[in-house]
Amino acid sequence: MENNKEMKNWLNAFNLSHPLVIAGPCSAETEDQVLKIAHDLKNSDVSVYRAGIWKPRTRPGMFEGVGAIGLKWLEKVKKETGLLTATEVANANHVKLAIDHNIDVLWIGARSTVSPFIVQEIADALNSTDKIVLVKNPVNPDLSLWLGGIERLNSANIKNLGVIHRGFSTYEQTKYRNNPEWQLPIELQNKFPDLPLICDPSHISGRRDILQDISQTALDLNFDGLMIETHINPDKAWSDAAQQIKPEVLIKMMNNLKMRKITNEEVDFKNSLNTLRTQIDVIDQGLLDTLGKRMKVAIEIGNLKKKKNVAVLQTKRWNEILGKMILEGEEKGLSEEFILRMFKAIHQESINHQKKVINS
Ligand code: PEP
Ligand code: MN
Repeated sequence: MENNKEMKNWLNAFNLSHPLVIAGPCSAETEDQVLKIAHDLKNSDVSVYRAGIWKPRTRPGMFEGVGAIGLKWLEKVKKETGLLTATEVANANHVKLAIDHNIDVLWIGARSTVSPFIVQEIADALNSTDKIVLVKNPVNPDLSLWLGGIERLNSANIKNLGVIHRGFSTYEQTKYRNNPEWQLPIELQNKFPDLPLICDPSHISGRRDILQDISQTALDLNFDGLMIETHINPDKAWSDAAQQIKPEVLIKMMNNLKMRKITNEEVDFKNSLNTLRTQIDVIDQGLLDTLGKRMKVAIEIGNLKKKKNVAVLQTKRWNEILGKMILEGEEKGLSEEFILRMFKAIHQESINHQKKVINS
């Protein structure tokens, strides 16, 4: 079986026996803070030190980054710890300054990937660079915007590309700050199997307690690395305080993660099986979420019917729905018998919920 990872050139140069780990604070705050965190991460599985210098905040008036002075601190980090350095760039001037200060990895943030104008400006500024450039997914769950960003950088002859999955904003209340929508990075990975794929559980979760779970799911889905926000005093961080963890907590977490790396055929088989099973788990979770939402709507309909004294069962409408579902199911390779059984069960559950409402 072909091992796609063989072709992931820039990642191979790291020569790691585990996924790539990028860690460091959300924002560079002071020289002391930047260096202390870096020294705590030295001699761990962390290879790349991250820190935001220019911070894109949703609302103005909050801390918006220390600016170019922070690049000097990152140069010091590299000199003192040997860690490579990474920062976010959002315009041509950022690119120039970051390259002038020997930053190794530049990433394009979620608020930039949404704008083809910005991505093009960055791509032009980076033209033919041999720096590693990572494209975060856009804020909204739009795969083609993400792909478009990658294509623009590709066209600018940037060879060492990768992507970061940081979740997607949604109007729904979920336990995540940014909904992972795992099917999107999975689809992207299927389209570009050679492109290193890194997960950013910090911005997906927005909180500490589920970082480990999200990281493990990413590794089970065959992600190539993790980017995790790390701070010496997380609660006092100037940005994203709720999601940052101490370096020692990160190190412990990395030790607890099951890192699955391909070493032989047997392991290869188990990895593939595991990746597919995790995909199934993600899809099943989506099915449950969708069914739960459907029942909530059914309950609202029940309330309406109660007000107007309308019967729960509307046979004509139900037969129309079934006919449509059978046709659409066929197109997706689902048998008529299965569609009938499944929708009958769903319908029955809706009726039960509505009955409860009407009899209450
Ligand atoms: C960040 O990594 O600090 C950041 C701002 O992330 P995002 O672009 O994913 O919001
Ligand atoms: Mn952040």
